Amino acid sequence: MSGRRRFYVETLGCPKNQVDSDKLVGTLVADGMVAVDDAASADLVVVNTCAFIEEARQESIDVVLDLAARKADGAELVVTGCLAERYGDELAGALPEADAVAGFGVPVTLGRKASGSAVPSFDLLNLPRPAPSAPWAYVKVAEGCDKACGFCAIPSFRGPQRSRSTEQLLAEVDGLAAGGVREIVLVAQDLASYGRDQGVGERRLVPLVDAVAARVDRVRLLYLYPSHLDDALVDAICATGVPYFDLSLQHVSPPLVRRMRRWGDGERFLDRIDAIRAQAPQAAFRSSFIVGYPGETEEDHDELLAFVRAARLDWGAFFSFSREEGTYAADLDGQVPAPLVAERLAELRGLQDDITAIHRDELVGEVVDVLVDAPGVGRSHREAPEIDGVIAVPDHLEVGTIHEVRITGATGPDCEAEPLTVGAVS
Ligand code: SF4
Repeated sequence: MSGRRRFYVETLGCPKNQVDSDKLVGTLVADGMVAVDDAASADLVVVNTCAFIEEARQESIDVVLDLAARKADGAELVVTGCLAERYGDELAGALPEADAVAGFGVPVTLGRKASGSAVPSFDLLNLPRPAPSAPWAYVKVAEGCDKACGFCAIPSFRGPQRSRSTEQLLAEVDGLAAGGVREIVLVAQDLASYGRDQGVGERRLVPLVDAVAARVDRVRLLYLYPSHLDDALVDAICATGVPYFDLSLQHVSPPLVRRMRRWGDGERFLDRIDAIRAQAPQAAFRSSFIVGYPGETEEDHDELLAFVRAARLDWGAFFSFSREEGTYAADLDGQVPAPLVAERLAELRGLQDDITAIHRDELVGEVVDVLVDAPGVGRSHREAPEIDGVIAVPDHLEVGTIHEVRITGATGPDCEAEPLTVGAVS
């Protein structure tokens, strides 16, 4: 290997963190450093942490300690991401193994150039990206959140929403498309509020979706707060050819949803889902829910079970409530005992797994377009990358091409398919 400094980046947590890591990699490479797969051979080891819930925080700390033990003598260890942002000083004191602890909201100085001078600090949200390694990519449209959901600490450490400009985003999309990306996955803490911080009442997501759809084959939206899913946005999503709706519902029982300081209830959610299915029968739905929020009664839980049965979502994720310091919910009475939460979670997950498997079985015989992500792995509009199931395709289909395939089988969340044409459709 050359005399250039080598770096290793480990990423934990959500897709939004992956975008930050990609950009970090891009900057370090542009700065003359070389990425390596093995922490032990790196001069600089960066851990991009997650602080979403207790489990994620513990995992982040475990990874930092593990990498501290594995890194070469003299290599630098830098901890960044949400955990660093949230517990900066405290974390720096508790983790003497780390050479630096740096959040994203502050100028970050990572490593030193071969000459010994520091790499300049940067703004992670607007860093250039490295060449894409897959035919799809996340694009983060905003940072922070203006809502105040009872369980969520994100606004307290990521700050209010700051949307990136449409021009900046489209330039990033153009760069990714030029590098072979065919599917763009738009993400933010509260995606449907994109642009609201840029002008009173201004809605910018629909024109952004239209503009991205004009540049790449697919655009997919993740994390839509249900009250913002209006007709214009539904029409825009359907018009992209990827009728995939990732709704951030969290719960359906009206008193509990109010206690979560959120909008909506099961009836309204079902009405919306039914209306979208009537408009786009191929639409796929995903949502996530919190189980065991303080005050959740047996009736609330039954209501959620009934909703899951009625909504027949393609994909559903259920998380146990995590008591986050400084949030509204941390001090609420009616904390639900852990064994009961585990029981409710198992019941909901079992039900949703069955529903997902039925949906997948029903697809057998259907013809869909798949984008080949990796040898043998394809996805139609129904599967978000890294989150949902996949469609197994023959290994010879070229990565980055789109093929018309017939689904020939299904096992749990995954399907398998055979191409209908010899070449790619595009
Ligand atoms: S919208 Fe999402 S990020 Fe914002 S406060 Fe609610 S849960 Fe947290």
